[in-house]
Amino acid sequence: MTTCAVAVEMQDLVAEARKPYLSVVVPIYNEEESIPHLYTRLTEVLNHLGHPYEILAIDDGSRDRSFALLRDLAAADKRLRVVRFRRNFGQTAAFAAGFDRACGEWVITIDADLQNDPGDIPALLARAESGFDVVSGWRARRQDPFLSRRLPSIIANRLISWATGVHLHDYGCSLKVYRAEVVKNIDLYGELHRFIPAIASWQGVAVAEAPVNHAARKYGRSKYGIGRTSRVLLDLITVRFLLSYSTRPMQVFGGIGLLSGAIGTALLVYLAYVRLILSQPIADRPLALLAVLLVLVGVQFLGMGLLGELITRVYYEGRNRSIYVVREELNGTGTSALPTE
Ligand code: UDP
Ligand code: MG
Repeated sequence: MTTCAVAVEMQDLVAEARKPYLSVVVPIYNEEESIPHLYTRLTEVLNHLGHPYEILAIDDGSRDRSFALLRDLAAADKRLRVVRFRRNFGQTAAFAAGFDRACGEWVITIDADLQNDPGDIPALLARAESGFDVVSGWRARRQDPFLSRRLPSIIANRLISWATGVHLHDYGCSLKVYRAEVVKNIDLYGELHRFIPAIASWQGVAVAEAPVNHAARKYGRSKYGIGRTSRVLLDLITVRFLLSYSTRPMQVFGGIGLLSGAIGTALLVYLAYVRLILSQPIADRPLALLAVLLVLVGVQFLGMGLLGELITRVYYEGRNRSIYVVREELNGTGTSALPTE
């Protein structure tokens, strides 16, 4: 073996030894007061766990001192990688940026506002290591107002569980542990981060749930209001559609089209019989209008199904698009790169 080959092998070994086991993804939007506390607490827990780790802090266009604080922390700690978005792209985009860059075997997501307790990570990880692909935190004693936050959340969780077949008490909890390949294989859009366990279910993942602590927000303000309820409902329809029919839209739209067209045609045949055989006038009958409408709607739906099929092909073939734009990045470049020296 040449010296060069030995050197390359050594390099591989060093890289392997440096490769993190855990990647913690933290979305951050105007959380200047929380960041120092979060960093201290998180590193304390992770160091205690003893696995090699990286923290991916995604600054989602903060307008306060969040990035300055992260830059100072990252200067002293190579395990803290910071990504700074050009503007506020939303929590889902922040998660997506973290997932793209994560090098660990397990990806852990946690909020920056200290409402989640980093102290819960070891238990969630142990649960995942015992044979699950996703372990979702469940804020059993959630410290948020009942009417505006907890009640809508209870209803939403029931609805999402029912519609997607993935039964969780707390989709909204950010503290979750994922096997890396689960999140690497998911494309996130809009505000779909809440649905990751459901979206991942098409990969055939094993999902578990574990109770976690939850604290009231100490610093800063929540970034969401009651308006999120209706958005979650609309997203649920999207996810339900993506889960069952995104690869075969013709079956949904075409199905409706066929049904509507068939009823319309039957009515038209009946009306033709009335007009031609019984010689009764049909022009003033509402039924005639309905029959024509049903046939037209049927044709429209069939057309939509065909368009859907075309779009599906474009969607699956023209990937490699990103839903965020990065301004700068510290301690690491590109996607899935090892942290640089
Ligand atoms: N967040 C973000 N981008 C946004 C909104 C929120 O990165 O556009 C982050 C925020 O900094 C926090 C987490 O997402 O770390 C959860 O947000 P928040 O605490 O406001 O949500 P809540 O706990 O009220 O549901
Ligand atoms: Mg919060």
